[in-house]
Amino acid sequence: MDKRPTRAAIAVDGPAGAGKSTVARQLADALGFLYLDTGAMYRALAYKALRQGTDLRDEEALALLLGDTAIDLYPAPGGKVRVILDGHDVTDDLRTPEVNASVAQVAGFASVRSDMVARQRELAHHGGVVMDGRDIGTFVLPHAEVKFFLTASLDARADRRYRELVRMGFDVSRDRIREEIEHRDLLDSSRPYAPLSKAEDAILIDTTDMEVEEVVAHMLDLCRQRLA
Ligand code: C5P
Repeated sequence: MDKRPTRAAIAVDGPAGAGKSTVARQLADALGFLYLDTGAMYRALAYKALRQGTDLRDEEALALLLGDTAIDLYPAPGGKVRVILDGHDVTDDLRTPEVNASVAQVAGFASVRSDMVARQRELAHHGGVVMDGRDIGTFVLPHAEVKFFLTASLDARADRRYRELVRMGFDVSRDRIREEIEHRDLLDSSRPYAPLSKAEDAILIDTTDMEVEEVVAHMLDLCRQRLA
């Protein structure tokens, strides 16, 4: 018997600030699919570890902490997702400079990743999902029906993150953000276990000079062709 889900899975990977979550959310909305933000799960663990004073270099302590942690992603109006950590809504606490600076370290550990990946596969079990992250097309959902790899120049990505943080009220330096993104990408792409990389069969989209609407329309066209 064919056990594949009857609804498709779509993977959206790429480096920080490439616009993945914005477009993945809108794509899911247009297709009537569930949007799953895997970065939010790693961010939730980093946030909890920071709050509890867990040593971020201690893989065993982080894996134990995650074992004792519930992370739920709830769809909210406007295609958004609320992140519930151990029963508390932490959505607005996950994109701070502190979490930005620590998350890649937490996400680099194999035992943390294997627990997260099991949770992500479970969430995607029924199909009908757009999942965004770093290793979705290569590792979490290697059989996803459509895979995208979004990228953009480092400057464009730094500008987007800078504007996002300023909108949120943080007093940040653009140069510092550019360095932080560059450093995070380096950690994400050089880790030995499930690094950030483009799946061979992923469609590459460079969003540097594209508006969000354009990117979403292009992705939607490709999904409709492939899923027809
Ligand atoms: O996508 P976002 O920027 O929120 O991801 C935050 C961090 O979480 C990434 O920089 C990466 O270290 C980690 N991550 C990951 N694998 C994923 C999603 C996110 O390692 N699938």
